[in-house]
Amino acid sequence: MSQGHFKGLGVCSGVAFGQVHLVDRRRVTAPHYHLPPERLDEEVHRFEDAVKASETQLEDLRQRAANSGLGQVYALLEAHAMILKDAAFRDATHDRIVKLGQNAEWALQETIRELKQLFDRLDHDYFRERRGDVDIVGDRLMRNLVGAETDLLSNISSDAVVIAYDLSPADTVALAKYSAKAFVTESGGPTSHTAILARALDVPCVLNAHGVMSMAGFGDEVIVDGLAGEVVLRPSPEQTTRYRNLSRRRKKARAALLADRDLPSKTQDGVDISLLGNIEVTQEMDGVLAAGGQGIGLYRTEFLYVEQPSLQGADQHYDAYARVVERMGGLDVTIRTVDAGGDKFLRRATDGHDTEADLAALAQYDDNPALGLRAIRLSLRDEGPFREQLTGILRAGVHGKVQILLPLITEIEELRRTRALIAEIEQELDAAGRAHLKNIPVGIMVETPASAIIADLLGREADFLAIGTNDLVQYTLATDRANESVAYLYRACHPAVLRLIDQVCRGAQVNGIPARICGEMAADPFHTPLLIGLGLRSLSMTARSIPVVKRMIRRLDAAECEALAQEALQMSCAQDVETVLTERLQTWAPELFGGV
Ligand code: PEP
Ligand code: MG
Repeated sequence: MSQGHFKGLGVCSGVAFGQVHLVDRRRVTAPHYHLPPERLDEEVHRFEDAVKASETQLEDLRQRAANSGLGQVYALLEAHAMILKDAAFRDATHDRIVKLGQNAEWALQETIRELKQLFDRLDHDYFRERRGDVDIVGDRLMRNLVGAETDLLSNISSDAVVIAYDLSPADTVALAKYSAKAFVTESGGPTSHTAILARALDVPCVLNAHGVMSMAGFGDEVIVDGLAGEVVLRPSPEQTTRYRNLSRRRKKARAALLADRDLPSKTQDGVDISLLGNIEVTQEMDGVLAAGGQGIGLYRTEFLYVEQPSLQGADQHYDAYARVVERMGGLDVTIRTVDAGGDKFLRRATDGHDTEADLAALAQYDDNPALGLRAIRLSLRDEGPFREQLTGILRAGVHGKVQILLPLITEIEELRRTRALIAEIEQELDAAGRAHLKNIPVGIMVETPASAIIADLLGREADFLAIGTNDLVQYTLATDRANESVAYLYRACHPAVLRLIDQVCRGAQVNGIPARICGEMAADPFHTPLLIGLGLRSLSMTARSIPVVKRMIRRLDAAECEALAQEALQMSCAQDVETVLTERLQTWAPELFGGV
């Protein structure tokens, strides 16, 4: 069989050798065929079995929504169950099977098409929006009819290289738990959640490998180079030997970086830079400690729902956070409250079970989710679950050094309302005689141009500012962080982004509070001189980047970095900044080029 070589975007280095495991998360396609009269009853039964399976799944989801106090979601799922029961849906499909001899999938597809046209003709936004419900219900039914999706994980081998058009965060975590060796997708940008999670889980990953799905076959041998962004299907023996040698060299270089683990994270001119870890799933804590991280700068708690889909109640939150805080043994732990919505949790989990965060996002129906009901907006809209989370954090605070971080703040009112909630919860805990951390520091994520521009004002009321460049770049440059077709515009070195970072650092400084960065920009040693030059003294990143960033810091001179940053702030495009940065780094830290 012929070989295949694909070039994509390498987002998590490492070389993986394994066998192709295809995951197709696209909408299923319906087969079309006519049936002889004697098979029609059987076909109606087949359709009814799929309806029953869908009803059971929806009932299960409704139960979970009810248990979690997600009233709106419950109502939405109830609407889906009603559509399933509706004669217009069911009888119309039966009729098509019996009268026209169409197979169930074809008949169902025609029913959905007709119903959607009907909704389109209704002159009211509410009804037009309901056509989306018909689609969702139809997709569930279709998957049950063709037996798709629910068994995606069942036959995964221990050396599976997952190849997909796209993977949701839940898919990525679930697949990594089943020890996937690498991820390859045809879509996704460098700070998409698939990329972040692959790095967090230390699984080599290549995004945007166009055409790979149609060339790869289940069980084919495959090599993935997550640094160069290369995927080799059905490699020759020579190629395998070459990649094995490359893998050995890279592993050696990574191990060598760990030699600096206990050395201070200090520039040549003696400026201390604290290096913290970002975590999504709790297994990453050990990696942060092993890499010499000085604490957790960002715990993305929305991923808790991937680990524990049925998580609810303050006690369960408390248990989860107390484990992290105790494991970190007195080091800082910054717990960010749930950031659902945006590109997170919008698709179904691979195991067929939607998480509650999935459900919450599903309820939004935002055409433009990045600008919709996401993060703190979602938390403040539904205070019940938010209170439970805050209570869990306050109680876990007694086990160490804990801070709260609020995602996507654009309005001071969001911070004020959260502080008021915290004050109420403290009173309740006091009244109940339960131990909790008092005066917990509350910081805000600066992820939008709005919050960067008023950082000096927000900084009057926040205890610290944490710059989230993944979103800041997206919102500043109007460039979807997960959309590969505009990935060329997604440039952290764009002077507009640098000016905003500069503004945030100054906003923190005038208020005498710390500024930190925890977006992916902090994890790339290429950017370290700029960040130090702009005044950042605390960088938080995925564990695997800590050693290389520390090595970079130890090569740099903060005063030189400052001069470089001042030059960069006067440049008119990202390309110019990158060119100057490349030139300087070739002098300052030549051995750190090429990546590890
Ligand atoms: C960011 O936006 O930079 C960030 C750290 O948050 P997230 O990637 O989780 O959106
Ligand atoms: Mg963000």
